[in-house]
Parts: sequence; structure tokens; C-alpha cells
Amino acid sequence: MARIDLEHIRHAYGAKPKSENDYALKEVHHEWNDGGAYALLGPSGCGKTTLLNIISGLINPSEGRILFDGKDVTHLSTQDRNIAQVFQFPVIYDTMTVYDNLAFPLRNRHVPETEVDRRVKEIIEMIGLGGWAGKKAQGLTADQKQKISLGRGLVRSDVSAILFDEPLTVIDPEMKWVLRSQIKRLHKQFGFTMVYVTHDQTEALTFADKVVVMYDGQIVQIGTPAELFERPRHTFVGYFIGSPGMNVLPAKIDGSTATVGGESIALNFRPEIKSGAKTELGIRPEFVSIGREGMPVAITKVEDIGRHKIVRARFADQPISIILDEDGDIPADPRIAFEQKAINIYADSWRVGGEA
Ligand code: ADP
Ligand code: MG
Repeated sequence: MARIDLEHIRHAYGAKPKSENDYALKEVHHEWNDGGAYALLGPSGCGKTTLLNIISGLINPSEGRILFDGKDVTHLSTQDRNIAQVFQFPVIYDTMTVYDNLAFPLRNRHVPETEVDRRVKEIIEMIGLGGWAGKKAQGLTADQKQKISLGRGLVRSDVSAILFDEPLTVIDPEMKWVLRSQIKRLHKQFGFTMVYVTHDQTEALTFADKVVVMYDGQIVQIGTPAELFERPRHTFVGYFIGSPGMNVLPAKIDGSTATVGGESIALNFRPEIKSGAKTELGIRPEFVSIGREGMPVAITKVEDIGRHKIVRARFADQPISIILDEDGDIPADPRIAFEQKAINIYADSWRVGGEA
């Protein structure tokens, strides 16, 4: 169990980076609390795997330091960091049996055989391979191999941290739920620090206490699912979380009035905006209402998806999405209004105003 501090980590794969764009990680400065369950969420290519490999020691960062419980481990090998890592694709020994694959990390640490046997039997049931203990891994299917890989990551209970890199990608949806709840259970039982990479927002939101959102080599927000939903710090978080994502409308700010196209919207706060900054108003589709009063809107499409309707429209010459309850209807001359407390203002894509 460990607290992990990442101090001003930057990483470029090439030997001589010429510009910021050559950095896969631009500036990551973050503290992972001891025993925390974190989901690391972001689109493909944003640097999630690079960051995990830096924590585990598979990659040496170009710049910055890594501390475990205050101790500098930047130049320690993976072995010496006492970390378990589960990759997206199976990393197992094909010629060993399922049992021996799972026992390997324990035997490697000279754990007594009775304890090895107890742990392996527990894990083998957990991953649903109870009947396969004596089988050689090479004969198994891809998803069975991945389950072994997952089991190898979970078999030691004395690790500082476990890092998961999209470990359930090849597992079928039903089994995903089962394994995810088992991982959660083990986390509660043993209290290891856990970082779980995914590009699936539902997975991240259901799994972790804290979700860390990455975009373009940086951490753009860390928060509970509710914080990410209600107050996206960056327009990217607004787009990426929620479906459809947050509406982002180009806006001019004058005091506490936002103007979008020809429409003025009174704000109950006064954003502090640098002059010349590119300004946007962010509002989630859930917080836009349609009725007889408010600002004019032209409906372009209504998608009925059962529990609610998604309305696509144009407002002040901008596309906008609105979520309506299933029994909500659209009057002949529709108008829209924004829920005041849900309005976010962004300058250069970062939120500048409203309640925290
Ligand atoms: P993610 O896991 O979020 O998909 P990665 O950490 O794999 O992202 O990649 C981040 C960036 O670094 C991408 O632009 C990717 O192309 C680049 N990258 C990843 N691995 C290597 C490598 N071994 N050599 C060069 N560039 C790499
Ligand atoms: Mg990756």
C-alpha cells in the first residue's frame, strides 16, 4: 500500500523533442492517495499507458520524479517498486499450467506453499477458471488467457499498488461486470492503491471513487462522477462525459451577460475573463428546457430513445442538443431556457466562472 506522487512528469518517446507536440505526457503532477481507487479515463492516444508504465517503472520519464510514500523510486526497476500490473493483452507463460501461472508471482517472492495454494485457489475461482487449474495455458482461448493475466495481477495481497491497463477489453460484457465487482471487492479487502485505465466512461464512473480525466498528455480534471458531470473544468470533460456531451457555444462576455449570436443570457455570476480570450458557454443537454417562454430555437430532429428524447436543434445559429423527459412535449413555437446553476463559462477551454 502506498501513496504515489508524480512530480512534474513529462515524457517524449523520441530522443530529441522539438516542440510540445513531441511530448506524449506534457505535465503530469498528481498525488494518488494510499488505498485510493482511481479510474484513469481518456481517449485513445492521450497518454494513459505511458503514464502507467512510468508509475510501474517500465518507462523512465524524460523529466520529473516518482515518489512512493515519499521515497524517490524514479530510478528503481519494476521489481523493486513492488507493483502489480495487468496489461490490455495477456502476459502469461504458455507452457505453464493455469495454476503455476497464478502461483508464479507468489513463488517468486518466496511465499510459503500453503499460502500459495490458498491464494491461487481463491483467485482461480474468482476468475472463473476453477476447472482449468491443471491445463497448460497455451490451449486456452484469448479471454481465458486474459483472465489468467488478471489473476496474476491480483494474486499478491502485499503490493503497493495495482495498475490495470484496460484489462477487460477482450472479456465478454456479462463477465466484465462480474470481474469488475471482484476487483472492487479485493480492493476493499486489501486496500492497495489502484489505478484502472479505461476509455469507457461508464466503466470509469461505476468503478472508482475518483476519476482522473486525461486529454492530450495532461490531466484535465480529477473528481467524483458527479463533479465531472456537473462542473466540467475543461470543455473536453464536458464533451467526453455524458451522452450526448455538453453543448459548447461560442460566447461574448460583458460583465455578467453572455451573448451567443444575437441572444443575451443573464448570468448570476461574473466570470473573470482575460481580454481577448476565446470564450465559450457550456451547458449540458439535461439542463436545457423547452417550453413557450425563453429564447427562440429551431428543432431539427427528435430521437426517442425510450426513457427520454434527444432533441437536436439550432439556437443562435449554433447546433444544440436538449434532453427531454419521455412525456415532455414540444410546443408549436418552441423556446428554450438554460438552468442558471448549470451554466459554465470557459476561456481557452478552461472553466472560469460559476460555483465550484
Ligand atoms: P493511450 O494509452 O491513452 O492510448 P499511449 O500512452 O499509448 O496512449 O500513447 C500516447 C502517445 O504516445 C500517442 O501519441 C502514441 O502514439 C505515442 N506512443 C506510445 N507509445 C509509443 C512508443 N513506444 N514510441 C513512440 N510513440 C509512442
Ligand atoms: Mg493505452
